[in-house]
Amino acid sequence: MRPVVSATPALLASVAVGRPVRGEFTYLVPDALAGSLAPGQRVLVPFGRGMALGFYLGPANAPVEGGVRLKPIQRVLEDSPSLPKDLIALLRFAAEHYRHPLGEVIRGALPPGLSTAVDEKAAKADVQHFAEALVTEVPPQLNRAPAQAAALQYLLAVGGRAQLEEVAHAIPGARETLKKLAARGMVKLVEVVLEPGVREGLIQGRPDRLTPEQDAAVRELQGAVDAGGFQPYLLHGVTGSGKTEVYLRAVEHALAQGKGSLVLVPEIALTPQLVGRFRSRFGGDVAVLHSGLKDRERLFHWQALRKGTVKIAVGVRSAVFAPVENLGLIVVDEEHDPSFKQDEKLRYQARDLAVVRGKQAGAVVVLGSATPALETLQNARAGRYKLLELKSRVDDRPMPTISLVDLRVERPREGQVTEEAPILSPQMLQAMEETVAKGQQVILFLNRRGHSTILLCEVCGLSLKCHDCDVCMTHHRSQNRVVCHYCGVAFPVPASCRECTGPLLKLGIGTERVEAEVSERLPGARVARLDRDSATSAERLTELLASFARRELDVLVGTQMVAKGHDFPGVTLVCVVMADTSLAIPDFRASERTFHLLTQVAGRAGRGKDPGRVLVQTYNPDAEPVKRMLAHDFDGFARQELEWRKALAYPPFARMAAVRLEGEHPEQTASVARFLGNLVGRHMPPASVGVRLLGPALAPIARIRGKTRWQLLLKAPTHAALAPLLARLEAALADVPSGVRVVIDVDPGAMM
Ligand code: ADP
Ligand code: ZN
Repeated sequence: MRPVVSATPALLASVAVGRPVRGEFTYLVPDALAGSLAPGQRVLVPFGRGMALGFYLGPANAPVEGGVRLKPIQRVLEDSPSLPKDLIALLRFAAEHYRHPLGEVIRGALPPGLSTAVDEKAAKADVQHFAEALVTEVPPQLNRAPAQAAALQYLLAVGGRAQLEEVAHAIPGARETLKKLAARGMVKLVEVVLEPGVREGLIQGRPDRLTPEQDAAVRELQGAVDAGGFQPYLLHGVTGSGKTEVYLRAVEHALAQGKGSLVLVPEIALTPQLVGRFRSRFGGDVAVLHSGLKDRERLFHWQALRKGTVKIAVGVRSAVFAPVENLGLIVVDEEHDPSFKQDEKLRYQARDLAVVRGKQAGAVVVLGSATPALETLQNARAGRYKLLELKSRVDDRPMPTISLVDLRVERPREGQVTEEAPILSPQMLQAMEETVAKGQQVILFLNRRGHSTILLCEVCGLSLKCHDCDVCMTHHRSQNRVVCHYCGVAFPVPASCRECTGPLLKLGIGTERVEAEVSERLPGARVARLDRDSATSAERLTELLASFARRELDVLVGTQMVAKGHDFPGVTLVCVVMADTSLAIPDFRASERTFHLLTQVAGRAGRGKDPGRVLVQTYNPDAEPVKRMLAHDFDGFARQELEWRKALAYPPFARMAAVRLEGEHPEQTASVARFLGNLVGRHMPPASVGVRLLGPALAPIARIRGKTRWQLLLKAPTHAALAPLLARLEAALADVPSGVRVVIDVDPGAMM
């Protein structure tokens, strides 16, 4: 036995460096810092030839390879860590799961100001400017001041009070406009210095009584919040069943227990009402985190949440990283919405991360939807999530009646499908006329923008395609141009076929054409269109939604933007112009997306005192999503679809990863795709593990912006079975020539 003699080991620190490099790095802790470092602190470290922002994660073990000369941490940039502990755990998980460098993941989650190597003291922002409406509606004297009317309208739509920065983002020039409104006495401008415990806002529109189903759900959630600890729920409530009120009560309860809440929503600009409801209920206790925040504002919210002076965060997907203190509750509203998946940089699914975060932080998680994602539903069926159901609408309002118009019978036969062919069946027109005559409102849904979506040569049959993309050009009549919806290139409508000079037929209808037809067939009706072409700014968007809510419009034609969680009590008729547009998309979720869209848009009907009806035009009345939606049969649809997914081993019965390639040169791209395919083949685990490779193959859209696109799809029973292969692939990317870009997309959303 020899006595072990060792010198005091040097203190070592594990640091994530805010650069696109994988892994954690080991640094020496200088004596001056010994004992004072806290995980989550931003530090300055030597990196390469210069200095870099780093994040101290905790003590490190001595590196395995000897002979490495470790460098010391240079400086600590803040006294208390920007990153709370539970967030470090979440970011670590995200980096590992979605295969993205940890330092980049952390930097991406932090607000600007903390994501660069500046001292905390330079990054203070604790004065906020607010605008408060002093009126409850837009007075008529603003009729001739549309900019002021719009700014005031925005303010009213979001609950009567908002930060100047936010209004100015939504409505360019609003700072000046609000000053004018203040001079007219319609708005008050206030400066707020954020202090602990500031609580403003009044309890507005809090219903006295919950429905029995709401009540049961609220009690269950309150109990779970009290009990503490991780407990995930699926709140499956039909459209108009009052899910938001359940969230509000649960958040209220958490707040009363001193716990923080995080509420994720798909898109804030599209649903200002929801923000308004949180604002009016919780006032200054809410930080609203949307994509249009200014840097300073983002930082302000971060610091307020981090300090615990603001306890509720409502925001879009990136808010899953908000540093809510003492997190007790996480809500994901419309959890099925595809926008929770980010499709660049860190390709995360915010709904999935919300559950991971809940588990790590020991919080209650509520995933709410009328049309839960099959992944979520399966988790509930397997008992991993508890199921809460709201089967009926508030006030026992009936679900809308849904009927079908078979376009195979109602529309002219082939050959007659010219620009003059009607889009709206007689039944649909009649229903619209009746509804408008009663002073009620109509929503028309078609998930395609533009006027005609295909320009086809009558002589040679070629359709007009984009030069750089493998897609058809869409005719936008209002611009008198054809536009590529993938790369944005646009040019004047050609008079004839490029190849043979034959005349061009305009086929495939878009919202612009529907709008034109409605205006023509219902001359008395006030019609507007809601899609990305008409809602060119957040200002236009807010104004459109607000004027529809004020009933200044009778008919709103639009893309999936009209299918979001709107609550317009005047809408009693919803028309689906063509249910088939999303059925044929080469994606295993096409059927599910179709069902979701149809059910969601139908759910906009009959939310007020008058009952609603829905008319669905389709060429595929027997298609599963169409049939099931018609019967309000979510369960039947889900059962059938899950069986099919199981048989073909698709999610939720498998985990997937997509490897996507994009290259300048078709041959080179193809050869890299084959190289990666071979690599996967060589490292494939035994067949019993059940990993499968689909491809390499050209992507469904084989060319975008002149780049050739390939993809490989990996399927496995579990993510763990997939992870080693993904690590191999990732390591091999260093050898890929620079002309080809390869990304790994774990749990991919869309397959295109
Ligand atoms: P969902 O999100 O489930 O579609 P909402 O939360 O938008 O439904 O609620 C639908 C409507 O019912 C809203 O206008 C809401 O204010 C109202 N509402 C919700 N709960 C109640 C209640 N208990 N009593 C009266 N009205 C309610
Ligand atoms: Zn293009």
